[in-house]
Parts: sequence; C-alpha cells; structure tokens
Amino acid sequence: MEKENCYYVKNGLPNKWYNIQADLPEELPEEIDEICNGQSKIDQMNKIRVKELVKQDKSKEKWIDIPEEVIEKYQAIGRPTPLMRAIELEKYLDTPAEIYIKREDLLPTHSFKLNSAIAQSYYAKNEGFKGVISESGAGQWGLALSYATSMYDLKNCFFWVKVSREQKPFRADWCSFFGAKIINSPSNLTTTGQKVLSEDPNSPGSLGISIGEAIEFASKNTEYAYVSGSNLPHVLLHQTIIGLEVKEQLRNIGVKPDTFIACCGGGSNLGGFIGPFIFDPNYNKNTTFLAIESDAAPRLTKGEYEYDNADPYALTPLTKSYTLGRNYMPPPIHVGGLRQHNGSGIIGMLRHNKLLDAIAYSQEEVLQAGKIFMKCYGMIPAPESSHAIKAAIDIAIDAKKNNEKRVIVLCMSGNGVLDINAYKTLKPDKQ
Ligand SMILES: *Cc1c(COP(=O)(O)O)cnc(C)c1O
Repeated sequence: MEKENCYYVKNGLPNKWYNIQADLPEELPEEIDEICNGQSKIDQMNKIRVKELVKQDKSKEKWIDIPEEVIEKYQAIGRPTPLMRAIELEKYLDTPAEIYIKREDLLPTHSFKLNSAIAQSYYAKNEGFKGVISESGAGQWGLALSYATSMYDLKNCFFWVKVSREQKPFRADWCSFFGAKIINSPSNLTTTGQKVLSEDPNSPGSLGISIGEAIEFASKNTEYAYVSGSNLPHVLLHQTIIGLEVKEQLRNIGVKPDTFIACCGGGSNLGGFIGPFIFDPNYNKNTTFLAIESDAAPRLTKGEYEYDNADPYALTPLTKSYTLGRNYMPPPIHVGGLRQHNGSGIIGMLRHNKLLDAIAYSQEEVLQAGKIFMKCYGMIPAPESSHAIKAAIDIAIDAKKNNEKRVIVLCMSGNGVLDINAYKTLKPDKQ
C-alpha cells in the first residue's frame, strides 16, 4: 500500500522520514560563517559532527529512507505509539470538542527524544565514532541518548544544565545505569564554563551554555561526535515519524482535526508532529498549527526573527530563527526542555510565513492543566507537554462557550514522573 511515496510497513510504521525542506515556501536561510580563533566555525562544526547528519541537514529530498536497523529499534521501543481519544478529559471539561493525544510519553525513556537519539547513534556508530558528546536541558535528551548509545555500544558524555539536573536527581541516576558520563554545566572543563563561572559562580546554567561547552569539549575529543537533540533540520526530520504515524492513525479512524498543538522548545516534537500535515493540501487551509512555549522563554511570541548563535559565546555559526538574544538568561523554572533563547530555523520560517500560531503560558497555569490530565488518566505529563494540554483545555472550554465542534490533536511529548518536583511547587488542592 503506497501513500505519498512513503510505505507504511510493520503495523503502521513508516519506512521513510518526511523532509519538510522539500516543501518550504523559501529555502532555509544559510548558516552564516564567522572566523573564530583563525578557523571557520562551519568547518569546525563539520569536523565534530556525523557526516550523514550534516548531509540530512542540507537535503531537499522529500522522503529519506529510515535504515532497516533503525526501523527495528523503533519497533523494539514500542512504535507506533498510540493515538488516543481523550474521552475522560472531554467529559471532565464537558466540552463538545474532540481531543486526540499522540502518546510519545509511552516510549521507554519517557519522551519522544528517543526517535532521534536512536537514528543519530546508528549513524555515529556507522561512521566509526567511539562515542558521542552532547548537552541536555531537562535531561530527557541526555536519558534518551544514554539508552540509544548503549544499544550501539557507544560511549556517551553530556553537559547537563545544572539547575535542571538538581531538580531531577532520579533521571540522572537512570542515565548513569546506561554508563553515561554526566557533567554539570557550567563546568570547569571548558573555557565557556570557566567564563560563566567567573562572572557568576552560582550560575544555574542554560541550554546555550551547555551547547557551548559540549562543542568545545568535542573539538578536543575527536573520537567523539558532537550530536544535538533539537533545533537542527535532521532532528526534525527524524521526529516526523510522529506525524507520519498520526496521519495513518487519523486515516484509519476517519478523523480530520482542525487544530494541531505541541509544545515548543527547540521545535523538534512540534516540527516532527505537524511537518507532514502543514503542506498537505488536505490540511493546510483552515487548519490551525499551534506552538506552545513557556513565558519564561517566549521566543515565538516576543522574540525577533534574526540571525543568532545557539550559545552565549558565539562558538556556533549564526542561524536564522526567532531569538531573545544569545545572552538571554531564562529564569530557573522547571520546564527545562523549553528554556532556551532561540530554536529551530524551520520553525522560525514557518512562523515568519504565518503558517504557525504561537501562545506562551506561565509555569503555574501549565502545571495546573497537567494536574487535570493526571486526575483523568493517572499519569503525570512532562511539564513541557502540559503546555500543549493547557492549550487544548482552553480551546475545548471555548468550544463549549461557543457551542462549536472542534477536533484537536496534541502531541504528548513526555512523561513527567521524574519532574514531580515541579508539580510539588503547586499549592495542594483543598480537601
Ligand atoms: C525536549 C523536550 C521538549 C522540547 O523540545 P523540542 O525540541 O521543542 O520538542 C518537550 N517535551 C519534552 C518531554 C522534552 O523532553
């Protein structure tokens, strides 16, 4: 059975990723190179990255084969993940809206990050690297990478934003069981970390700082590849496994949503989820695509669409996306996965072309929404995912007021049982 040149094999698992770059209204703005310590930054980055991933970043091919070995791992981790109709939540809200949820939280390490971690580890192994070096915000990428690298017998070392690691000690233990080496960021191991610590010895860290540290560390440890868990086109590409599965699942139940919702940090779960729909002529008119961000890092709602570096000391080449400025220091909130100053160039372009709407919510209101979901279904959503739930709840409440039929689908990006400290900041309910 062929659909859109992508074959669904093995119970609804696609055998190709969808490359949105083939359909974008304009070409993605090129990275701008700069000379740093006498060397081109792009050359520097290419030296420490996996070649196949660099190639995928530039590809304009619409469909890219998922290697057979990666499809097997996707099956092993429980893909395709379910698309669930959230009837309990609809009843709780007493809404005429239908709410569907893509359950990426059911993956073994609790988030969608595994989809790209497996693919990246596979390519790194193929190219003969001994291991990978990366960064992590809330620790979900670090954990996914710890498991994925252990599948391929690779070493894994990552710089973890200090404040987030301290908020999530059990996730750190889980990573260490796979043999991962975790470094608290800012650290004394890199000049980036040393500079930050000399200005503020108690710096909580930020994703930008840990990116800077990871790149610097990888440049000195050349048997290791530098990999990243979001922002870059190849990460969004791997995550289209989510949207492609959803498309097939919606087709099977004969449902056509009018609203797609996902939380947005670097933009990979959002991009992978909505990517296969946004330029589909069956969907693109009268369909709302909604990015939900944290008001602690409101790039898409308050930032500028301009060139910026991903790290504060400008080791990375300039890429165009929505940014709050590379020196923006987000407050130490619990939604680590959304705490960064810029994000994906692809998401930036979609937003700039008015193909994507965005809303920012506060931590408090988002966690309250997560708690409503928990009461309906028993599980604790990742605080990042609770951003998407909050938006769905608001739309469903409006639908009731206006007596409107709405069909909403949201991406549940992760499970938040190890982010339980975030929910403990809420006042207890009255008994
Ligand atoms: C990393 C993460 C996010 C944010 O990352 P994106 O690249 O914007 O998708 C959201 N939710 C969870 C559970 C995460 O781990």
